Amino acid sequence: MGLIPYKNEEYLDWSDKETVEKMRAALNEVGDELGRSYPAIIGGKPVETDGEIFSVNPANPSQVVGRVAAAGEREADMALETATKAFESWSRTAPEARARVLLRAAAIMRRRKFEMLAWEVYEGGKPWAEADAQFAEAIDFLEYYAREMLRLKDGVEIYSVPGEESRYFYQPMGVGVIIAPWNFPTAILTGMSSAALVTGNTVIMKPSEFTSVIGAKVAEVFAEAGLPEGVLNFLPGYGSEVGDYLVQDPRTRFISFTGSVKTGLRINELAAWQIEKQRWIKRCIVETGGKDAMVIDDSADLDDAAADIVKSAYGNAGQKCSAASRAILHADIYDEVLSSVVEKAQALKVGVPNDPEVYMGPVISEPQFEKVSGYIETGKDEGERLLGDDPGDPERGYFITPTIFGVDPEARVAQEEIFGPVLSVIKARDFEEALSIANDTPYGLTGGVYSKNREHLERARREFRAGNVYFNRSITGALVGVQPFGGFGMSGTDSKAGGPDYLPLHMLAKTVIERF
Ligand code: NAD
Repeated sequence: MGLIPYKNEEYLDWSDKETVEKMRAALNEVGDELGRSYPAIIGGKPVETDGEIFSVNPANPSQVVGRVAAAGEREADMALETATKAFESWSRTAPEARARVLLRAAAIMRRRKFEMLAWEVYEGGKPWAEADAQFAEAIDFLEYYAREMLRLKDGVEIYSVPGEESRYFYQPMGVGVIIAPWNFPTAILTGMSSAALVTGNTVIMKPSEFTSVIGAKVAEVFAEAGLPEGVLNFLPGYGSEVGDYLVQDPRTRFISFTGSVKTGLRINELAAWQIEKQRWIKRCIVETGGKDAMVIDDSADLDDAAADIVKSAYGNAGQKCSAASRAILHADIYDEVLSSVVEKAQALKVGVPNDPEVYMGPVISEPQFEKVSGYIETGKDEGERLLGDDPGDPERGYFITPTIFGVDPEARVAQEEIFGPVLSVIKARDFEEALSIANDTPYGLTGGVYSKNREHLERARREFRAGNVYFNRSITGALVGVQPFGGFGMSGTDSKAGGPDYLPLHMLAKTVIERF
């Protein structure tokens, strides 16, 4: 296939008036569509369910964004049956044809960009630039995995002994259950699903209950892109009601999950058991949370460091698995960096993301609001609150202002994932101690060092215990094909989404040797 070389999708230019007008128009149009119903889609057919999810706007919880089917065991069973049947033909479909479906999905997403961004604003509470960045990531996944499949379609070179031919190639696995979180509702759902599909598997796609409408839109794009019926089955629902059933069923071949450690471990555990009639060891691709740290040493450019701490801590209201939730500052520059971080964080505009000036929207849901509020109370007991207000009335939107605590490294707010706009600042005696504090949590997703000291950077290159380490920049990048992303420790199985090792996780490698 003569494809142009892979290139990341460009971000929109919000200083361009026409772009702003297009976004406003999309917000109006999508505003008129709020409250509609979305069924499950199994085998290409809409399926009504007994239960229903009321998905609301986190900036205005009385506004219903959509009413989405909540699948139960009956629908899960139908989806597993349908996906099992569809695997027979999809697994035999040429890799080039499968890749073309992804390329077409990318083209459709580009055409529908403003509309899809508007759904991100209403259902995901995302400011425009955040919505755009994660939507661009969804398009990148489609473009990148299509090319990756073409690279891998004939297998890879190995050696043969004289008189024999050894071949090493990949085959599809079976039915994959795709379980996604709400914080990158288009990107992660699209990325996990497209990798499973292009490698020849059929899928059951379960979005987060908090972003099910966006899930329905993603399913719509794949259908429009020409996926045969039954290859992707859209199964919205509550994880607590349908998750265990999907994971345990003997027809499930693999589970691709992104979400919390608690759910990830449960999936790993349940998937480990052999159920009657099960003929394989299920594979689990599990990517979970983080407690990511930025270390700033005494040689760093302090103003840049402060700006990137703020960017990494408060982008998407801190609801990124990669968010900086700890800033570990060398004692000699502690006061200067801290006051700059406080000043910059204080200046961020928090509000309803329909306004283009807003930098930080609400957190996603009432449970998330309660959880973050609880940590703010804990932080007040554990250390000094240096910035932030007590959270307001959640009925008026799940807003939390940028919050900073000065604490010891062992504080709960410095050890546990909060997943909100809360930053813990920690003082370290020297670089050695800073690195050891950074490494002292069960997580290992992202991390960063700000330094001009080559020795420190090289040491951190080897010893910073995280899957993604960034020097002298923000720590939240996961640019597809450029910053393959996945964590160490309790942060995941290090599957490196958007990287060269990702697609083989969805396939069976086969070795065939023929003697001549
Ligand atoms: P979550 O674990 O609550 O939910 C994730 C998904 O799992 C949802 O679709 C949910 O319905 C489903 N689920 C819940 N219980 C289940 C069960 N028993 N069986 C099967 N599925 C079940 O997580 P969340 O709140 O949606 O997402 C936030 C978390 O995701 C944070 O911890 C964040 O760090 C993590 N995350 C990680 C990455 C990464 O790449 N490592 C990326 C984004 C988010």
